[in-house]
Amino acid sequence: MKIGILGGGQLGRMLIQSALKYDDQFYTLDPASDAPCSSISHFTQGNFNDYDTVLNFGKDKDVVTIEIEHVNADALAELEKQGVKVVPNAAIIKTIQQKILQKEFYKTYDIPSPEFQVVWDSEEKIMMPLPFVQKMNTGGYDGKGVQVIKTEDDYQHLWKEASVIENLVDIDKELSVIVARNENGETKIFPVTEMVADPKLNLLDFNICPVFLSDDIRNQIDSITEKFLNAVNSPGLFAIELFLDKQGKVWVNETAPRLHNSGHQSQEGNANSQFEQMYRVVKNLPLADTDAFTYSGMLNLVGAEGHAGKVIYEGMDDVLKLPKTYIHLYGKTETKPGRKMGHINVLADSREELMEKLIKVKSMIKVIAE
Ligand code: ADP
Repeated sequence: MKIGILGGGQLGRMLIQSALKYDDQFYTLDPASDAPCSSISHFTQGNFNDYDTVLNFGKDKDVVTIEIEHVNADALAELEKQGVKVVPNAAIIKTIQQKILQKEFYKTYDIPSPEFQVVWDSEEKIMMPLPFVQKMNTGGYDGKGVQVIKTEDDYQHLWKEASVIENLVDIDKELSVIVARNENGETKIFPVTEMVADPKLNLLDFNICPVFLSDDIRNQIDSITEKFLNAVNSPGLFAIELFLDKQGKVWVNETAPRLHNSGHQSQEGNANSQFEQMYRVVKNLPLADTDAFTYSGMLNLVGAEGHAGKVIYEGMDDVLKLPKTYIHLYGKTETKPGRKMGHINVLADSREELMEKLIKVKSMIKVIAE
């Protein structure tokens, strides 16, 4: 089967890596000539935001999927009309890629998400009490396009573009649940992961899986996943990012209609990884079992501050000597501060041991430039 992926980054690369044991042809589209997928797939250099480029890329494929949601969804809708299978479908990609539509989607389907106000331009009066969070309607990624407005003084920093103004949640934990549904309507859900963020970089730092949850919290999450999948009405693999607040209520922060950083530890921690699952969704195969073998965790390898240029993974040999520790690099030759260059998965018998190992590994390795 000819499988086309919009985006040629690490998510696509790990999907292809995992699917190489099957017999398919992978095609990727990315603007960067040295994108992580460029050397391991049939690669087209081009802009996945451009209507004609996406249409041309997709028209001779059996199925087209995405590894980034900021793509030209109108072209995907046209491909659907022409009979190309698009997973997930163009409509849900379009909804999710605009924060305003995404928030309205949750409201329509009674999915709990922080209270919000839509602001189309800077003239509009903000009714939300301070403090609140402003999220750009489009263009946000990896924590960019999100800011907290705490005081009257901060009003001057408000972005003057279409955005969502959202109630600031008193967060106890940030959780993520990866769900998959194939065309036959079969559903599988990965164990819930906790995401421990790095406040400085605003980039995901550690993942920990599975998480201990009370029956009440588990029920809230089950209800969210069920409502979400019914509302989406498309095959796909989705990462639902959740806030657990200090009162024990679960809220949907946002959803990614694709593979997600919060699922990387499934590569070694679970019976099957999110990448295997995505492959099965794309091909409408029976879905894979998602059981966690043990405690698993992940830390991102991000470019160190003050380092830009040809990458060196300082301390990598020492990490390779550790048991149940797995390095995944993304094939990026140039590092820069904050750039996601790879990740390390770690397995352990308890949460405490896992945290200890993650902290140790983090202190052992540094992503620097030559
Ligand atoms: P991105 O898609 O860029 O990762 P998010 O919407 O996930 O953006 O926001 C980034 C981070 O900002 C979240 O992980 C969370 O820590 C914080 N955040 C976002 N929305 C809220 C909110 N309503 N209340 C409190 N914190 C928030």
